[in-house]
Amino acid sequence: ALGAVTALVLAACGSDDSSSDSADTDSAVKGKVGVILPDTQSSTRWESFDKPLLTKAFEEAGVEADIQNALGDKSKFVSIADGMIQDGVSILAIVNLDSATGAQVESKAKAAGVKTIDYDRLTLGGSADYYVSFDNVKVGELQGQGLVDCLTAAKKTNPSVIELNGSPTDNNATLFKQGYDSVLDPKYKEGWKKVGDQSVPDWEAAKAVTIFEQLLTAAGGKVDGVLAANDTLGNSAITVLKKNGLRVPVTGQDASVGGLQNILAGDQCMTVYKPIKEEAEGLVKLAVALLKNEKAETTGTVRDDQGKRDVPSLLLTPKPITKETVKDVVADGFVTKAQLCTGKY
Ligand code: BGC
Repeated sequence: ALGAVTALVLAACGSDDSSSDSADTDSAVKGKVGVILPDTQSSTRWESFDKPLLTKAFEEAGVEADIQNALGDKSKFVSIADGMIQDGVSILAIVNLDSATGAQVESKAKAAGVKTIDYDRLTLGGSADYYVSFDNVKVGELQGQGLVDCLTAAKKTNPSVIELNGSPTDNNATLFKQGYDSVLDPKYKEGWKKVGDQSVPDWEAAKAVTIFEQLLTAAGGKVDGVLAANDTLGNSAITVLKKNGLRVPVTGQDASVGGLQNILAGDQCMTVYKPIKEEAEGLVKLAVALLKNEKAETTGTVRDDQGKRDVPSLLLTPKPITKETVKDVVADGFVTKAQLCTGKY
């Protein structure tokens, strides 16, 4: 078995790290775009992937951009938005920390004649002109199916499952859960046992450790599989499982370097790869359309039940990643083999 694993790891580590193709280059477009990212702790994606990929995509489109991070602080989020509006941005794109703050910022922007775009997270009750994200219910379905596949491969009969959900203030967390519960609920009806189900405020790793410890204790120290909503939460669960001498299938999301390493090490059963380059380029296309007063290409609308409106949206397709397909993420140029393979192998 070790030989097979080593071969897979080498396949991942041996893959060519192909270079990225460049986005359509528009001649310089007038107007500045402000982007506010949420934090640094809920996922490595915002600083490690979104920021550089957005910077590059805006540069290639000839659009001036100011990208800042609210560092998990709602009042900082509002003051960055105020500063950008003051500074004369034409468009403000946000990853909200919660819908209430997001909606407040969007209505202020609107009053100042600034168009807004929801990036990755839909602002419920907001007024964004566009929304760009992945199909987040699909992300959840992939996680649910990934866990079912791993538990089936492990030949578990009526396994005990703990669900570690994302932040209750993130609409995506609701959609992910909707997706994985659509796969897991029928299993629970068949006899699988849900022995824990809790949300992690702000997707915080340290809170996830505490919550997972409590859930595991309440479950009598016995669990067969963990549905963790992203790689950060998955890693928290893995830390606790290891401390208790357990190794069971754990899911994730983001194809973060840490998540992929956990997969290669056999501690995590899958992750969901969301090609953020496409999301960043999608944001730039929507922004350019707004700057040019043209209608942007979208994939449909997403319902905001709170705001009672259908938001024009560009939704991209997520991909499940297991040990066998880690190399695909490398081949896509998302992570390099050097990042993945240093130290551990
Ligand atoms: C994003 C995930 C991310 C999580 C925590 C979600 O809204 O879609 O990719 O892992 O937030 O930052």
